[in-house]
Amino acid sequence: MLVRDMFTCARCKRIIIGKGQAVADHIVPHRGNERMFWDERNLQCLCAECHDSAKQAEDKRKAPA
Ligand SMILES: [Zn+2]
Repeated sequence: MLVRDMFTCARCKRIIIGKGQAVADHIVPHRGNERMFWDERNLQCLCAECHDSAKQAEDKRKAPA
């Protein structure tokens, strides 16, 4: 999956350089569903920065103000 996307971040389109900087992100949360977890169409490559900010935004949405 990461190879297919050529280590380009799906969000900022930046080429991801460096070990541990590419993150496989689930477009739709798999919620423990194995089929969703392994579905390539449900995966995108993000840089660690975008992944963190995306997840942080999600957490903020979920958390009560
Ligand atoms: Zn990015």
